[in-house]
Amino acid sequence: MKKYLLMLSMVAGLLCIPATTLVAQTPTNQATPSPSAVPIVDLTFGSSLQGRAITGTRFGNGPRKLFLVSNTHGGPEANTYQLAMALLEHFRQRPNEVPADVSLYIIPTVNPDGLAIGTRFNSRSVDLNRNMDTNFDACPENDWNQTVEGAYGIVSDTGGAFVESELESQLVRDLVLDASAVVWIHSDGGDVFPAFCEHAPSIALAQAYAAASGYRYDRYWGNYMITGGMHDWAGALGIASITPELSTGELPDFEQNLRAVQAVMARAEELLPLVTTTVESTTGITMPTLLWRYWRAHGGPDVFGLPISPVVEYEGQPTVFFAEQSLSLVPNGADRMQPVARGEAGQTLWQEYLLDQRSTSYHVR
Ligand SMILES: [Zn+2]
Repeated sequence: MKKYLLMLSMVAGLLCIPATTLVAQTPTNQATPSPSAVPIVDLTFGSSLQGRAITGTRFGNGPRKLFLVSNTHGGPEANTYQLAMALLEHFRQRPNEVPADVSLYIIPTVNPDGLAIGTRFNSRSVDLNRNMDTNFDACPENDWNQTVEGAYGIVSDTGGAFVESELESQLVRDLVLDASAVVWIHSDGGDVFPAFCEHAPSIALAQAYAAASGYRYDRYWGNYMITGGMHDWAGALGIASITPELSTGELPDFEQNLRAVQAVMARAEELLPLVTTTVESTTGITMPTLLWRYWRAHGGPDVFGLPISPVVEYEGQPTVFFAEQSLSLVPNGADRMQPVARGEAGQTLWQEYLLDQRSTSYHVR
């Protein structure tokens, strides 16, 4: 923290920005824990390709956001949908089980078309758990590929035409962007495994979930390599990310998973790390994690360029200028799927910003 402020004052000094205009290091999405009733908020995040709503429910308003995302694999894994619906019902009756510092999101299906049609894939035969951009983590083995291994290791060209080619994948990309942790529920392996690439928070979460549920802990999904998987994509963004596989393809395993979710929430401080700031590795520039994740998840340097400014307050919002565009946090935008606003012409705006700051400080003096 001290070092960060020092760096900011140095940058401010160099650029003649009054240090007070720089935004201090604070967690995003700070919420005041409610002393009374735990809020229950039903949300619609968007629609599937065939127009079915993709919905979820948030319990609580704490800053440690735990997402349960179920039924990526539609019909054959319908028991994961049943589990999510049972958990929803449980927490609707007992919202006070969600601790004050936690927000629990339950999303029963991100593949409603596959669930309705009775297929593992979405409505145009893409495996949504092979369609994410897993190319920016440190592990080449799990990189996205059109040719994938699916259930039982069956090889097919169901990874999609390109990374995040599917409406449902694009929705997932913004849905969990400010998560502390995501539990991607599948069936049926009877185990829990964390993101493939080394990521300590994912490993700790998987071990805790395994211990409480009784599922076997596996460091890797041992049957075949998963490319373009949601859990690996999220882990690469610094989200604690795990995949429990229910024991069978039929039963929802309600008790086991309820125990696991309760155990995770009871250790929120340890297992659901706060979303705060991230240092971009090439430039060393520190920015709000949500901004960094949005930048990284939506194409990173290829789309926005590298960051060229520290985080500043621009038009009232924490903003980072990138070479091609600027990105600003949207207040309480996460639940509305608008966590970040894009401004065009990053380099130009940043120059204008600096000129404004110079003239302002000149007049003040
Ligand atoms: Zn699955």
